[in-house]
Amino acid sequence: MNAYLNFQKHLANELLAIQSAGLYKEERWIVSPQSVKIRLQSGQEVLNFCANNYLGLSDDAELIDAAIQAMKDRGYGMSSVRFICGTQDLHKELEACIARFFGTEDTILYAACFDANGGVFEPLLTEEDAIISDSLNHASIIDGVRLCKAVRYRYANANMSDLETQLQAAQAQRFRLIVTDGVFSMDGNVAPVDEIYALAQKYDAMVMVDESHSAGVVGKTGRGTTELFNLRGKIEILTGTLGKAFGGAIGGFTTGKKEIVDLLRQRSRPYLFSNSLPPSVVGAAIHTFCRLEQSSELQEKLRGNAAFFVQKMQDAGFDLKPTQSAICAVMLYDAKLSQEMAAQLLSEGIYVTGFYYPVVPKDQARIRVQLSAAHEKEDLDQCVNAFVKIGKKLGVLK
Ligand SMILES: *Cc1c(COP(=O)(O)O)cnc(C)c1O
Repeated sequence: MNAYLNFQKHLANELLAIQSAGLYKEERWIVSPQSVKIRLQSGQEVLNFCANNYLGLSDDAELIDAAIQAMKDRGYGMSSVRFICGTQDLHKELEACIARFFGTEDTILYAACFDANGGVFEPLLTEEDAIISDSLNHASIIDGVRLCKAVRYRYANANMSDLETQLQAAQAQRFRLIVTDGVFSMDGNVAPVDEIYALAQKYDAMVMVDESHSAGVVGKTGRGTTELFNLRGKIEILTGTLGKAFGGAIGGFTTGKKEIVDLLRQRSRPYLFSNSLPPSVVGAAIHTFCRLEQSSELQEKLRGNAAFFVQKMQDAGFDLKPTQSAICAVMLYDAKLSQEMAAQLLSEGIYVTGFYYPVVPKDQARIRVQLSAAHEKEDLDQCVNAFVKIGKKLGVLK
């Protein structure tokens, strides 16, 4: 018997099911650096409105130089986990930079925020404790919670009366941790971290915010939700990624209370058993945080771009989800329409993504536009004009 034969048939069926549901994900090849203007394999040049390149740093010349310099000084790879021989002075310097940026006590780096979230709960909490999680939290938080024995509670997205109900239900446990994304990636709404913090105080709970889409974006100088809500230093745990606003390469972190970070270094499995970040990435990230400490120019430009785009799209008559971030959801409701509209926008040179069920709730299909500090006014105008042209053609606008 060939064991693989039956399994192969099984996989073929699974793949077919994904395809017939219209959920098979195709990848579009880019043959240029990640940037505002990208070149597709077809040769077409398009304006990119679907990257997490919020500060426009993905192809930044200074960052590339910093990465090259760090690679020349400290080599290509670490060939070790942190606690054996994978810690350079650069890793410690970056951890300190991140703590300064967020106003926290200490930071621990990971290969990705997926790992930071995957490795944060299990070392800290046991079956005696409770995790109270927003229903729209990122997949990596959901997976991290699954790896932990704490009792799980879930509240409806950003719904404070439901959170309060869950907190009341969780009073029997020893410790309580409320977990939320800072910005929810499909709507662009900011979690009400001020109200979450107040409820946490009332019901003796700690708070964790995943700042992946909010760091570098939200708050006057882009320090994230703790800046926006004047809670710097108050939230016990923040996680974040180096893969979005901060250059977009790879890497994640947990930053917060010193003892929490200390214990994670001892017990967090993705930290203990996965390779150390390469010097090039660490060196470029140090450069990024230094630069963002000196000036908030990029964050201000991004905020201006987002406000300009939202205003123009509203004036044009589009139905937008209220946003406080660099994510703007253009509501179309119909799944097919969202795909048709994205395809026609691409032929107008505007690269955006249409999302529909199950990525977003049923009959809530939309096009998600992501703004960047690297967009110029004429790029934004070109995008709005294309939306208006295709919107009229497809009957979205009167
Ligand atoms: C993107 C994202 C992650 C994953 O970050 P990586 O560093 O790419 O693994 C985790 N959480 C949230 C909320 C995200 O948006």
